[in-house]
Amino acid sequence: MSKDMKDIVSLCKRRGFIFPASDIYGGLNGFWDYGPLGTELKNNLRDRWWKDMVITPPIGPDGNPIEIVGVDSSIIQNPKCWEASGHVGGFNDPMVDCKASKKRYRADHVVVYQTLEVLEPNICFAFDKDTEEEEVHKRIVKFLKKKGLASTTGHVKFTKTGTLLDYYDPKTLALSEKSNFDISLVLGPDASDVGTLTAPKTFNMMFHTFVGATAGDENKAYLRPETCAGIFLNFKNVVDSSRVKVPFGIAQVGKAFRNEVTPRNFIFRSREFEQMELEWFCAEEDVPMWFDFWVEQRTNFWLSLGLPKESLHFLKVPKDDLAHYSSRTIDVEYKFPFADPDFDELEGIAHRGCFDLTQHQEFSGQKLEYLDPVAQKKFMPHVIEPSTGLTRGVLALLCEAYTVDENRPSGVYMNFTPAMAPKKAAILPLTAKEDHVPTAQKLYMDLREEFVVDLDIKQNIGKRYARQDEIGTPYCFTIDNETATDHSVTVRERNTMSQERIALDKVKDFLREKIKG
Ligand code: ATP
Repeated sequence: MSKDMKDIVSLCKRRGFIFPASDIYGGLNGFWDYGPLGTELKNNLRDRWWKDMVITPPIGPDGNPIEIVGVDSSIIQNPKCWEASGHVGGFNDPMVDCKASKKRYRADHVVVYQTLEVLEPNICFAFDKDTEEEEVHKRIVKFLKKKGLASTTGHVKFTKTGTLLDYYDPKTLALSEKSNFDISLVLGPDASDVGTLTAPKTFNMMFHTFVGATAGDENKAYLRPETCAGIFLNFKNVVDSSRVKVPFGIAQVGKAFRNEVTPRNFIFRSREFEQMELEWFCAEEDVPMWFDFWVEQRTNFWLSLGLPKESLHFLKVPKDDLAHYSSRTIDVEYKFPFADPDFDELEGIAHRGCFDLTQHQEFSGQKLEYLDPVAQKKFMPHVIEPSTGLTRGVLALLCEAYTVDENRPSGVYMNFTPAMAPKKAAILPLTAKEDHVPTAQKLYMDLREEFVVDLDIKQNIGKRYARQDEIGTPYCFTIDNETATDHSVTVRERNTMSQERIALDKVKDFLREKIKG
């Protein structure tokens, strides 16, 4: 059964995973707050990434563990950093404004349709890239009928001709060679007549602020649009202060900010988000080997968190779409419900060349070359960057976990792996009377030292199971009359709803085993 984003967003709010930021004030477009369970889920994903990168990095191609260290850099850096990285001059998404609806769209996110029967004048239709074909058809027919350009039968054939940006040169934004295109004859995504869209223009996506008491250009600073810059700025400090040797990596997790033109699809594209980025420094000649290595490692990471192979897709980013610094990028894409049957980006693995260190060397005037201690020669390391959105990863886990099941009272359960589940187990005394409660409390006190667990005493047992299913708790331990006599509890498994009895003193080992597996 296909999953509906509306249902996922609603469960997230109802159960305390994610809320709109400033909810009581009506929210703020592109900003989200993580509730008690969302915070646990996000921390689990972050901690697992950190463990796999920094605490126990993978075994390298030569059979030895590779070396990765972590940093935690400032969100605000010297603004020269963003000149060097190209963000001040070029962190621009071409966008178009609609004069009627006052909405702003990314030109590469608006898809253009034309009717097969060429219209006179040549009207084109623009839709948000996620609009269903059925809706596109309905709107085109409605418009043509209104204009007396179509019969009343509704049989109109049309074709997708690309995105709005495809009609322009992406660098100069001059109208490209494609014939027969006139922006003044385009019906905008939310407009009722043609001619309301402006030609694409650029818009810098960095949020800015002022450092210090005065608000002049000389005090202007930026909120970082990606976490990797803080890694490059500290490259020399890390090399000088620790014993790392190329090849090695520096990892960072933290907030990033982009004034996205059209934040959308829940937390998929937001204006404040979190990234988990690794910069892997290596010799240029070793790039192909390390690139393949990282694609494999990152794929295994997502598979181990429960994203199935068939929901992942690897997009070799075409040359024309590569970032200016990259000669090769593979996007790991996931079948998010809003993209289904297509996929959308979860992580990008890019060969950044030696662009960043070279730029920062030039702009700072500081030597950033690496001295090979064996060959005694200096060189600029190349970089492979697996860059993933932590919050986007959370969305992938939520979407994957959401499972409709009409055979259970909750009608739905969240199929998180035990390691990712916000709560690992719930301890449920069958009744609030007798000695069920003290035994449950004792078990809770014992487990909570090691696991995030819930002790839930109130309501009938069915309702309590339903709640745990909806928040994705993999195991419920129920204390009943038999517990006092045979020192056992019932363990209910979330997905199958099957129940078995296990010894009270084996509960901890049981959980440990499940979380590991
Ligand atoms: P896009 O082209 O979709 O804007 P991008 O290719 O510029 O994204 P990167 O700069 O490569 O994205 O960022 C690396 C990762 O950071 C992405 O794979 C994604 O997981 C995450 N990310 C980027 N922008 C956002 C955002 N606005 N909201 C949430 N996550 C984001």
